[in-house]
Amino acid sequence: MIFDSHTHLNSDKFAGEVPELLERAKKLDVTEFAVVGFDTESNQRSLALSAEYQNIWSIIGWHPTEVKTYSRGAEKTLEQQLEDPKAVAVGEIGLDYYWMEDPKEAQEKLFRRQIAIAREHQLPVAIHCRDAFADTYRILKEERIHELGGIMHSFNGDPEWMKHFLELGMHISFSGVVTFKNAPEVQAAAKEVPLERLLVETDDPYLTPVPYRGKRNEPGYTRYVVEKIAELRDVPWQKIAAQTFQNTAALFGIEERL
Ligand SMILES: [Zn+2]
Repeated sequence: MIFDSHTHLNSDKFAGEVPELLERAKKLDVTEFAVVGFDTESNQRSLALSAEYQNIWSIIGWHPTEVKTYSRGAEKTLEQQLEDPKAVAVGEIGLDYYWMEDPKEAQEKLFRRQIAIAREHQLPVAIHCRDAFADTYRILKEERIHELGGIMHSFNGDPEWMKHFLELGMHISFSGVVTFKNAPEVQAAAKEVPLERLLVETDDPYLTPVPYRGKRNEPGYTRYVVEKIAELRDVPWQKIAAQTFQNTAALFGIEERL
C-alpha cells in the first residue's frame, strides 16, 4: 500500500473524475491520499473530499502566493476548518521566491502565522519552499518546528540542504522530480535520506513522473516515485511503499484510523 502525501485532487483539473482516479490509483497500490489546499475554497474542497472518502485526508492552510487574499476573516474560517477531524496537517505553507507574488517580509509574516495556527491545533506542517531554502530553514528553526514535525513537500534540494531540514526533525517528501534525468541532486538526496523520514507524493496535477512526464499527473503515479526511489536505493519497491506509508500515517497521527 502506498500513501500519496500530497495531491491536489481538489483541483478543477480533476473535477468529476475523482472516483475513476481513485480506482486507477488502487490498481497501482496507491490507497491513501492527503489532499492539499491553499486558500479558503480549495481548503473547503479538500475537506469535502475527505468527508466523502474514508481514505482521503486533508492538509489545509494558506499558500505563500496567496498573501493578498489572507484576512482576519480568512483566518477565522481556517481555524474552523482545522477543527475537522480529517484535517491532519497545516499546509501548504512556506515561501515562494520564484513567483514572488508578494515581498519576502509579507510571505514570512503569513508563514509564521500559519505555523502559530498549526501549533494551536497541535498539527504538523506541509512546507512549500521554492528558491527559498535559507529563509525557510531560518524560520522553521526559530519557530522550533521539531515540536510539531512536518514535511518538506516535493523536496527539490541537494543532500546538504536535506541534512539541515532533517536536523530540524522534518520529513522529506519526494515527487515525480526524483524520476527526472536532470535532477541528480534530488536523486542523491532520495538515496541518502533515512528511511524513517522518507515520504512520497505526486503533487498532481503537476510534476508528472517518468514514464508519463509531459502528461497530466494523477495520484496513482505515486507508484512510479516509489519505484524510482527503490531503484536508487537498490531495494524492493514494496519496502519503500510500506515504510513511507507507515511514516505518513505516524506523522499525521492516524495509524489507528486506517
Ligand atoms: Zn502542492
